[in-house]
Amino acid sequence: MIEVRNLVKKYGNHLAVDHLDFRLESGKVYGFLGPNGAGKSTTMNIMTGYLGATEGQVIIDGHDILKEPEAAKKQIGYLPEQPPLYMEMTVREYLQFAAELKRIPGKNREEAVDEVEKLVKVRSVEDRLIRNLSKGYRQRVGLAQAVLGFPDIIILDEPTVGLDPKQIIEIRELIRRLAEKHTVILSSHILAEVREVCDYILIISRGKLVASDTPENLEKMLGESDTVEIETEASPATVGEILKNVPGIAQIVIKETSEGVTRAQIREKKGEDARGRIFDAFAGNRVTLLTLRRLSVSLEDVFMELTQKETVPEAFRRKMQETASEETAGAEPESAQDSARNQERDREGDEIDDSSL
Ligand code: ADP
Ligand code: MG
Repeated sequence: MIEVRNLVKKYGNHLAVDHLDFRLESGKVYGFLGPNGAGKSTTMNIMTGYLGATEGQVIIDGHDILKEPEAAKKQIGYLPEQPPLYMEMTVREYLQFAAELKRIPGKNREEAVDEVEKLVKVRSVEDRLIRNLSKGYRQRVGLAQAVLGFPDIIILDEPTVGLDPKQIIEIRELIRRLAEKHTVILSSHILAEVREVCDYILIISRGKLVASDTPENLEKMLGESDTVEIETEASPATVGEILKNVPGIAQIVIKETSEGVTRAQIREKKGEDARGRIFDAFAGNRVTLLTLRRLSVSLEDVFMELTQKETVPEAFRRKMQETASEETAGAEPESAQDSARNQERDREGDEIDDSSL
């Protein structure tokens, strides 16, 4: 079992990992899902002992990765985002070297290398220099290195990035095969990918865990939208007035007003179904409600929503950060991102109330 407790990583004053807390059980396939910059690689580097944390703890099968690195690391095979391949070695030499580093006893080394070469299908290129391999083969060699010695836990950082569709399918099949006997943790910024192979998904955004569940439950739970759309003859101001004291509402966004009809989207607070109360509020005020319906949302939409701040284009975000740090010396990057997000939101429509966000 892997326990990550209150993990924090700061780069300068940028919070890359923001109090992550989770437990992973043995024998499952876990997916870290999040957009670029979410903190997936940083988290994996800390979990595997390649990077120190600012705060918090990682416990691998009872061993603290900092206090007992040898015991903890022995359980883990890791394919980092940039696999540490030695370009001037042949595939075989590299894997033999990796086996030595992993302290696989000399007499078992050749057999261990044979086994992983077969598993990831690099046997045919074992005498080639790594520098002459395609991206797909290099990735497989990286995987072979991670799997070597068959540690209990295999951690793969974006294992399919840069591969073509056929190679992606092969890597997926390999992950499924590994999953029969190992705990596998992989990261991806592609929802379809983790949905495909993972038993359990942890969605990470801006260093925070924003959701974690089985793909099925995420679909179910998050597929149910928390937004109710209404159309009414009332003016936007009246809509705000009527809904002001209705419990369970987080936010009201006016989408459109035309020919005496106001269309508004009402976001409910977590776990609330405010439809009945919304209806009653309008009826009680004798204001006509033309429609009232729950919006449907796809898992993709939810993912975008949960991770929205990160989807502000990188260049735009950097610019916002620069502007913010010019204005207020020492400002946290978050404040720049928040203002970028607010601008995004402002474009959607007028907010009447977002006090509880
Ligand atoms: P992901 O793997 O989800 O794309 P990373 O863990 O690589 O995210 O990065 C998380 C955040 O930390 C990003 O904002 C990134 O720019 C920042 N970051 C990562 N590594 C460093 C570093 N060595 N120095 C400073 N900032 C870093
Ligand atoms: Mg990464």
